[in-house]
Parts: sequence; C-alpha cells; structure tokens
Amino acid sequence: MVNYKDLGLVNTREMFKRAVAGGYAIPAFNFNTMEQMQAIVMAAVETKSPVIMQVSKGARNYANGTILRNLAKGAVEYAKELGCEHPEIVLHLDHGDSFELCKECIDNGFSSVMIDGSSLPYEENIALAKRVVDYAHQFDVTVEAELGVLAGVEDEVAAAESHYTKPEEVIDFSTRTGCDSLAISIGTSHGAHKFTPEQCTLVNGVLVPPPLAFDILHEIEKKLPGFPIVLHGSSSVPMEEVNTINQYGGHLEAAIGIPEEQLREASKSAVCKINIDSDSRLAMTAAIRKHLAEHPGDFDPRQYLKPARENMKKMYIHKIVNVLGSDGKLAQ
Ligand SMILES: [Zn+2]
Repeated sequence: MVNYKDLGLVNTREMFKRAVAGGYAIPAFNFNTMEQMQAIVMAAVETKSPVIMQVSKGARNYANGTILRNLAKGAVEYAKELGCEHPEIVLHLDHGDSFELCKECIDNGFSSVMIDGSSLPYEENIALAKRVVDYAHQFDVTVEAELGVLAGVEDEVAAAESHYTKPEEVIDFSTRTGCDSLAISIGTSHGAHKFTPEQCTLVNGVLVPPPLAFDILHEIEKKLPGFPIVLHGSSSVPMEEVNTINQYGGHLEAAIGIPEEQLREASKSAVCKINIDSDSRLAMTAAIRKHLAEHPGDFDPRQYLKPARENMKKMYIHKIVNVLGSDGKLAQ
C-alpha cells in the first residue's frame, strides 16, 4: 500500500474549491511517456499552476502502472528541483472502468480516480460510483464520476453517439454516490476527430463545430451550486499542428476540436477540470515529423524528442495561461 501523500501528491478537493470560486479551470493532461511528464511539470512550474497528470487504461497498458506512478513521484521532486517549493500535482486515473482498477490505483499512490460507469444503466452507475467513493474516501482520495455519454474514441473508451447529461439527475446522482466531481456531456467528445465537416459551419475558411450546450451546463450549475464539474474530450486540435503533420508526410483528414473560446468560457463557470490529451499527441507528432524531415540523418531519439518536448511544453503553457486561466493559482 502506497499512499499518495507519501509521494508528495495532492488530491483535487482544495484546488477544485479554489478553481470554482476563482472562475478558472485546472488542466488535466494525459501522459504516457517521460517526455510528456517533463513537459507538463516544466509548464506547471513556469506558470505556477496546479496540475492534474492523468493516466488512462491505455497508458497503463503501454507504459506499465508502476512506472507511471514512479514517474509521478519523480514529477513532484522534479518540480521542486525546478524551483517550485510547494507543487500541487494530482495523479489521476482517467476512465477507471471497474472497482478493482480504481482500488488498485488507490492502493498504489493515485490521489484521485475516475470511475466511469456512464455506459451503465443509471442505478448501476450510482452503485458502482458509490462503491469506489466509499473505498477512496477512507484514504482521502477524491473521485470523479460521469453522467451522460461522450462520443468519440479515447484509448479503450468508445461510444458512437453522445447523450447529454440530464440536469434533472445530477442532484440525485451526486448525493447518492458522494462523488467529489462530476464529468458531464455537453457536446465535447474524445479524440482528434470530434466532428464531421458536415456538422460544422464554414466561417472564413475555417470549419467551426456546433457550440457546446452551455444551457445544460448552466442548468446543472443551478442545481448544484459550487459543485466541481469536469469536461472530457476538450482538445482544440490546433490547425497549426495538423498542418505541420500533413506538411511533413502525415495524413490527418478533417481533424476538428473544441474552439478555445468555448473552453475559456466554460472555465469561468463551475467547470474546474478540463481534460486535454489529443493536443499533446498532435504537438509531439508534429515536432517529430518536422525534425526528422529536416534532419534525415538523425537517429538518436533525443534529437527528435527534445523538440517534441519543447513543443508540448509550449502547448501546455498556452492552455494554462490563455485558455484555462490557472496560472499563478498555486496555494502558496
Ligand atoms: Zn475522457
């Protein structure tokens, strides 16, 4: 049994409280590699931002849970080395799909877990989430649950169509599960292809997707004043990165994300955690493709992973400062 507090990590409770009150959101960046971890920590330290480092089931399959947990432990030490005396880093399980997986993470140093029972019938979702909450709270680990279904593909999470969260269910759900935050579905979706071009409107040569359902978000806020809300599938899929990938031999068609304007607006509400994964993948891939195209003789991974890390760091800082507004928000 490894408690997260011994690793120097924190849970989400205090940072969410401050984020909801302060009208900003905490970034939740997925990581699978050391370079992503380093870029996340460098960006968080430079901007003095709390940060959530999250691990999906796919990341555990790719990198091994023990290694990722130790990378997160390294992240805290690394942040201190970079000059941040009191880093606020959360190690979060993204899309936990069973009680057993959540328990395993809680027992091994995670400070926060998501139990995603959103594809289950309502009562089963409640029962599963409550079981995880009851276990997690014994160790002061915070729990995110989900109500409503997001479309798209994320690692091993896939759904063909979305079902918006029903505001009339949120009070009953949060009270009976005891969850600490709630992921909702208001039109975001997983992956880099969130919308088909047919769903979008062409404005000045750019495909603009349909707006998020802010009416539903506001109704939920009214039902649960001050309760932390989470948005998944919130990459904006920057055209700049997509164009670089395609310019240097890639073939990404019709990759469309959530406009940053809308994420900025959501951050000002009770939305206090915004998940960003695809944008990091795009930033990494774009930098690697560009480097290898321009330096065909390079074969040392450090030569192309260094610009990849730089590009991810730049993207993380941009999100923190210009979209979520969590810069300068460390407690001390
Ligand atoms: Zn998700």
